[in-house]
Amino acid sequence: MIQRRPTRQITLGDDRVGFVSIGGGKDGTTPAPVSVQSMTTGYTHEIDTCVAEINRLAAAGADIVRVAVPGKNDTQALKEILPQVRVPIVADVHFHFGRALEAVEAGVHKIRLNPGNINDRKQVEEVIAACKAANGGKGIPIRIGVNEGSIVERKDKQKRMKELGGVFSDNKHGHFLAIMITKLEEYLDIFYGNDFYDIAISAKSPDPSLVIAAYTEVSKRFDHPLHLGVTHAGPRETAMIRSCVPMGHLLASGIGDTVRISYASDPVYEVEDALEMLYVLECRERKGVDLIACPTCGRIQVDLFTLVQEVRAKLADEISLPIKVAVMGCIVNGPGEAEGADVAIFAGNQRGIIYVQGEKVANVPEAEILDRLMQECVKFQDKVQRGDAKLGQKVVKIAPPDPIGELGSGFDKIAAGQVHAAPTDLTIGNTD
Ligand code: SF4
Repeated sequence: MIQRRPTRQITLGDDRVGFVSIGGGKDGTTPAPVSVQSMTTGYTHEIDTCVAEINRLAAAGADIVRVAVPGKNDTQALKEILPQVRVPIVADVHFHFGRALEAVEAGVHKIRLNPGNINDRKQVEEVIAACKAANGGKGIPIRIGVNEGSIVERKDKQKRMKELGGVFSDNKHGHFLAIMITKLEEYLDIFYGNDFYDIAISAKSPDPSLVIAAYTEVSKRFDHPLHLGVTHAGPRETAMIRSCVPMGHLLASGIGDTVRISYASDPVYEVEDALEMLYVLECRERKGVDLIACPTCGRIQVDLFTLVQEVRAKLADEISLPIKVAVMGCIVNGPGEAEGADVAIFAGNQRGIIYVQGEKVANVPEAEILDRLMQECVKFQDKVQRGDAKLGQKVVKIAPPDPIGELGSGFDKIAAGQVHAAPTDLTIGNTD
């Protein structure tokens, strides 16, 4: 289990959409599960489209959705959007502090401010006062987002930057870190001066190593919950790695309380990939199937890539429990993975053997694998729901089948001396 960094806790939402807490562990609070955020891509003032996009993101698993409010028509639209959605909504405000006031008045659940472009003390104080008074006096939180790209203002920071420059002198991002910490200290001073602590912080950049350095330094200095993100990360194909590597590193170190992956692609992918990242790190309890599959190699004798995609799509539709399913190409890793999975199939010569918690339940031709595997998954889910089986339990220890006998897979290679079968046990090397 990852030991999360204790932070203050913020909570956003209302009785209708529900409440989402971020961070925790201080002041008697328990750390909330790491939440997933995303952002709409359409115009907020196009109300029906915006509502549809928010609902799509929520259906994909987003806990919180952010919308841009560059114009008055956008903050006006919030009044009609909010009653039609089922997740807390954050208004993303840049340049015009008035948009923040209007969004608060419309009933938004949280405000994001950028110290790089809203930094007039009086204006910030007006936003703080509005957020404090919102929600019938209970207040709403504010995220302070110090993106690398927007911290261009460097005036009057020289002294503090010089001090911090020494602290960060061995860091290749030292100059940026010095500016960022200085900016945050100065900005937070306005909030603390107004007795406002309902704050989350983000420090995003497109540079993954800077993201790690920035959040690490912020986490050492401020006890507010952290919103992790790699900004402007690019299309999903490359941005997935660019985002999940630094965020995964931080989360595994206990840093990070809510995440937003940013893709130049459909934002539903942001939600799906963020959830998968949190599941594999065990930062969130998995919903739906945990699917593993082999990458295939020269031993494969079925069309595994197609099978895996079909299995994935069908499981997403039909299985809601976190059943571990393994789809393996041959006997090399098949039995081992089958033993560790609730439901497993390993393929042979255009056939597949299906196991449920270690017990062999079928040996079917390739054309029947998908349907039979799905039947077994649904049956197993029913059993778990009835209380007749438990996830992750080993019922039977698997004895791997004779590769020459039942499946025939491996025969040619064993005969050719490319792999070895011991007389009493199957000891074919793991080539993955
Ligand atoms: S050896 Fe591994 S990768 Fe190759 S088909 Fe068998 S299980 Fe898949």
